[in-house]
Amino acid sequence: MTCLGLAGNDVLGSSSEGTPCGGIQLPLSPLEEDSDWKCDRCPITLSSSQVNDLVTRIGDEVENILRGGPTVKQLEELLDKVSTFLHPNHYHCYAVKHSLVQLYGHQHGYKPQQLTQQQLDKKYGIHVRGLLRTVINMCRGLLTTTETLDPGNARLALYSSVLQYETHNAVVQSARRRLSQQPPGISREELASKVKEARQLLVRAGQALAPEPELSAGGRMLCLVDKSLKELDIWVKELGLSGTDRG
Ligand SMILES: [Zn+2]
Repeated sequence: MTCLGLAGNDVLGSSSEGTPCGGIQLPLSPLEEDSDWKCDRCPITLSSSQVNDLVTRIGDEVENILRGGPTVKQLEELLDKVSTFLHPNHYHCYAVKHSLVQLYGHQHGYKPQQLTQQQLDKKYGIHVRGLLRTVINMCRGLLTTTETLDPGNARLALYSSVLQYETHNAVVQSARRRLSQQPPGISREELASKVKEARQLLVRAGQALAPEPELSAGGRMLCLVDKSLKELDIWVKELGLSGTDRG
């Protein structure tokens, strides 16, 4: 985690002035649970209980905010704060990002049925394009973490399928946006490959969710995945992309 020490100071938070040392606090004996932590740039050390206190306090805040139905802005601020202290793969960062990608998909309303392209451009301008890229990158990172935590995709099927669904959503919206430009900002080949990528994401999400009971959160997610697959197939037909690999 990031060191809270200030350059030139050797006492934690002893002064509000000065610049952060920029170091990282690392456990002195990584395999021991109660190891002390030391900064790699300044002399500050933390006891394991100080570290645990900090992580617990961050965790409480994350839990409270997530439970309260946060806005995109609140989650972005929370993510900034949490990533200052914790590694991006830490589960508190993971939890915030996992909620954030879903909110981006819904709250920013980049769904075509909600707003026309022109309205979207007017409302968010270039922001939407950057946002879609952010969502895709964030989802990919989170998927990698999820696969590391749960290689068989047994425990975290719902988490990974939500990420696959949100990635598919961002990939499709990004392709639609580029296609609607005059002249189109995407070639037929690239469009076909984006459609294929989106389809594979949905198929994988569907496979992971197949064992979930019908009335569970996983079952509801599966309905959404199936619906999106049908919508994607309709779009493929409209586009005349008959050669698309449907597997
Ligand atoms: Zn330091």
